[in-house]
Amino acid sequence: MSLVEIDLYKELKKHFGFGQFKGLQEEVIKSIISNQNTFVIMPTGGGKSLCYQLPALMKEGTAIVVSPLIALMKNQVDALRGISSQDGIAHVLNSSLTKAEIRQVKEDITNGITKLLYVAPESLTKEENVDFLRTVEISFMAVDEAHCISEWGHDFRPEYRNLKSIIKKIGDDIPIIGLTATATPKVQEDILKNLGMTDANTFKASFNRPNLFYEVRPKTKDVDVDIIKFIKQNQGKSGIVYCLSRKRVEELAQVLQVNGINAVPYHAGLDPKTRAKHQDMFLMEDCDVVVATIAFGMGIDKPDVRFVIHHDIPKSIESYYQETGRAGRDGGEGHCLAFYSYKDIEKLEKFMAGKPVAEQEIGHALLQEVVAYAETSISRRKFILHYFGEEFPDDGEGADMDDNVRNPKKKVEAKDQVSKLLRIVNETKQTYKAKNIVNILIGKENALIKSHKTHSQPFFGSGKSHDNKYWMALIRQTLVAGLLRKDIESYGVIKLTDDGLAFLKSPESFMMTEDHDFGDANDGNIIT
Ligand code: ADP
Repeated sequence: MSLVEIDLYKELKKHFGFGQFKGLQEEVIKSIISNQNTFVIMPTGGGKSLCYQLPALMKEGTAIVVSPLIALMKNQVDALRGISSQDGIAHVLNSSLTKAEIRQVKEDITNGITKLLYVAPESLTKEENVDFLRTVEISFMAVDEAHCISEWGHDFRPEYRNLKSIIKKIGDDIPIIGLTATATPKVQEDILKNLGMTDANTFKASFNRPNLFYEVRPKTKDVDVDIIKFIKQNQGKSGIVYCLSRKRVEELAQVLQVNGINAVPYHAGLDPKTRAKHQDMFLMEDCDVVVATIAFGMGIDKPDVRFVIHHDIPKSIESYYQETGRAGRDGGEGHCLAFYSYKDIEKLEKFMAGKPVAEQEIGHALLQEVVAYAETSISRRKFILHYFGEEFPDDGEGADMDDNVRNPKKKVEAKDQVSKLLRIVNETKQTYKAKNIVNILIGKENALIKSHKTHSQPFFGSGKSHDNKYWMALIRQTLVAGLLRKDIESYGVIKLTDDGLAFLKSPESFMMTEDHDFGDANDGNIIT
């Protein structure tokens, strides 16, 4: 064991009382200690905070932690004060502080007492704060929830875009640590570029949550009854039911209560006292179920949430992963049940209607992934992990933990169809998105297809013997299998991968399963 390691374990024990590092923590901490730009991608609960807290406590100067979540910052500051005899060890700097409090914070930083300074990006932009921070020693800058920098992330915040220029103003060579709990390959790239740290040491933990069971059920008019039945079958267990609107939260919470379920509502429209009360009731086991909008959950660290139900499908896979991630934190059972109807997708599309075009395109592309997730009949875990750029082997941990794997649909040989599909992608020079490739296969013309004269090509309509749903399913499965890929910059144009090119040269067996049919078919969506 090197000296650094011995010291690190000693410091870990001294400050946090832990005997071991969790996952990649040790490597991350070494990277930070040696002043390298560092990028950490770890699922929620992975132990990200300690990755910057421990080096901050060990290093000279003050570490600045940027986070958009004020409540979370306060929790962390309280926790840090709890492990130190010095209250000044950690501070939050925000606009709600009095002049005297601000003076105290600055004094503690100047005197070298404060090791961690938490700030919201808005506060960091303030000139007076930047001017002050330039004059003191900064050990490093940690950017928490770094996905907020990307329009492709599930929580884009424009203030995050200015961070790099502010950091530069504070000091030219301050090491930067980016941290996030969700990041698709595209979001990762955006983070590294925007923070100007393409040289960063990157540490990515697996996003697999083997103890979570994923299930999708069709959403019918009886969805409330279905939810009641599910909760009754899981009597006494803690769970969260997510709804899109506050109104639905209120209604459903009442329906559950009337049916003898100990449920409370939670949304941002409730007064802060009621919200805090309901959150506490959930944490203290005074109620079993919280019916909530996405306002609930940020920083909720209840280890034994046994189910997360989505009454309404969320707007991206990242959101779904994040929200379902609140189940089974203790490693025990965690059932993630989503009710899906294509009508809900149309509703979400409508919400985006007034937004700038680029934002709509992004929103639409993210929603298409949600549709694909809901309708797919392949392993849901494999689908989610592929989305996050991770390959999941058929026999990986938790491989049988979803409805599709437990009740597999019959697989059919699709070697010839895959060849046909890849050939069309190739011969149309990789210019079309999935829906138009399907149109070309089934021989449906539209303005774009005509403008490229694709409708007069010999292969136009060559896939007529199968319907659009079949082809959409096949495209999705070839994407997951890595024969095709979606180009994100162009909002989803389909490209061939090297494996896809190899398949074209010498086709192999490809076993596919058709998608689930959710009744209120999304044909309108595929053929536009
Ligand atoms: P994240 O920010 O990645 O969601 P947290 O930093 O909140 O995760 O850590 C999750 C939990 O793991 C916390 O309760 C924390 O105290 C605990 N934890 C972190 N590091 C260790 C460790 N080395 N040993 C034991 N527990 C740890």
